[in-house]
Formats: sequence, C-alpha cells, structure tokens
Amino acid sequence: MAVERVSKRYIAGGAPLAALERLDLRVAPGEFVSLLGPSGAGKSTLLNLVAGLETPEEGRVCVEGMEVGRSSGAPPIAYMQQKDLLLPWRTVWDNVLLGPELRSGAERERLSPRARSLLAEFGLEGFAAAWPAELSGGMRQRAALIRTLLCEQPVLLLDEPFGALDAITRGRLQRHLARLWRELNKTVLLVTHDVDEALLLSTRVVLLGGPPGRIEEDLALPPGGPSAAELGPLRAHVLQRLDALTPAAP
Ligand code: ADP
Repeated sequence: MAVERVSKRYIAGGAPLAALERLDLRVAPGEFVSLLGPSGAGKSTLLNLVAGLETPEEGRVCVEGMEVGRSSGAPPIAYMQQKDLLLPWRTVWDNVLLGPELRSGAERERLSPRARSLLAEFGLEGFAAAWPAELSGGMRQRAALIRTLLCEQPVLLLDEPFGALDAITRGRLQRHLARLWRELNKTVLLVTHDVDEALLLSTRVVLLGGPPGRIEEDLALPPGGPSAAELGPLRAHVLQRLDALTPAAP
C-alpha cells in the first residue's frame, strides 16, 4: 500500500482545515502497521482515503497496485470503522456474512462454517439470530470484526477495533488477530490509542501528529516483537512522544 504526498482538507465550522498535508506512507505486503496519535491527527481520515471513502485534494493512494478512486472497482480492503456500522435490519448472522453474500450465494455458503466458528471463538455463538440493537457495545464490535475478517481481503483497515471491549476479551481478540495475521499473511493498518496493543501486535508503529496530520516517527519493531526487556523502554519512548504531540487541554 502506498500513500503518496496525500493532502486532505475539510471545511470545519466554516473555516478550511488541513486534516493531512502531503503525507507519505508505504506499507509492504504482509506488514502490520499501527497508527498512534492524538485525536484529530488525521488517523481515521487516512484510513478513509485508503478505503476510497474520501478523495484526496493532492497525491494518490495505491492498494495492491491499484490506484484508489481511479481504477475500476473497490480497493481490495476490508474496513472496520470506528462505529461498528452493523445493519440494524439484519441479524448478527446476516451481518457477518454480508461481504461473502455480496460476492455470491456460493461464497456465503462456503464461508458459513467459518462464520460459525468465529462466532463461537468470539463468544457470540448464542447470538447469531439476535438483532444488533440487542447486543452490548463490545458484542457489536466483535460482530463487526468477524464481518471484516469474513470479507477475506488481503488488506485490513481497523479503526480502534477493540475500543469497547473489556480487558480480558480485548486480550483474547488481540491474540486472535495476531494469529490470523501470521497465518493468513494479511497486510494490516490499525488505528489504536493503546500503546501496548500497538507494540505487541505490529511490525511498525507510526506516530502521527496534527492537524495537519504528518508522520512524526516511524518506528520499526524487532522481528518477532519486542522482548520483555525491550518493551518497557519502547513503551516509555512512545508515551513520551505522544505526550509531546498531544495539545495541552484548554
Ligand atoms: P483522528 O482519527 O486522528 O482522531 P480524524 O481523521 O478523525 O482524526 O480528523 C482529523 C481532522 O479532520 C480533525 O480536526 C477533524 O475534526 C477533521 N475532520 C474529519 N472529518 C471531517 C469532516 N467530514 N468534515 C470536517 N472536518 C473533518
């Protein structure tokens, strides 16, 4: 994935706002990159641009050799946005199988056993027939993550996928995502506010400051993840950088 000199501007409160300014980011196939940064640094905007939901004023975004917004068809990504965006008129079962169903009935059939095993693994086996409104925030988030995984795309964009989860469930799903990433060789771009999550899951941690969003540090992590001895100093370094990037409260 390549984000090349991308700028994105909005009008906010009647005034122009540069959300991203000539930002460059390359993510090699199979990398797991976490984006950390204060609120408003442009992390979600960057994911929206990679997903083709927003169009940059300048620059271009390529995913798997395809220029987003220019090539025909949607980019080969599965995107779990911050809001779970489950369809309220579909049951959990029909929500998680939405991606395969949009491809074909045969795909829905093929992925049904996997949907069943993911629901069980994520503690939702008794809720396949439930409506999204009947679920807690954490359950909705788990259903949305299953839906994202069942899209079977090579690139996963995950915007705070574990934010609404309790610590135990969060740890379990982080381990599940780590295993999946190793086994399936996905490329992952993850937005998180959790420094440990970023350090434990990623191959690289990118610190974003802004607005306008810019890359302040691009930190490659040791292959196989930081050791217990490396983790403490890395955590302290990232927290100190984030503190410096976060504007003082008014
Ligand atoms: P982050 O995900 O890092 O919190 P965002 O990408 O959501 O940051 O937002 C970056 C900046 O762009 C913020 O100042 C935000 O208010 C602004 N912004 C984002 N989306 C819009 C929009 N649709 N209209 C106007 N301003 C927006």
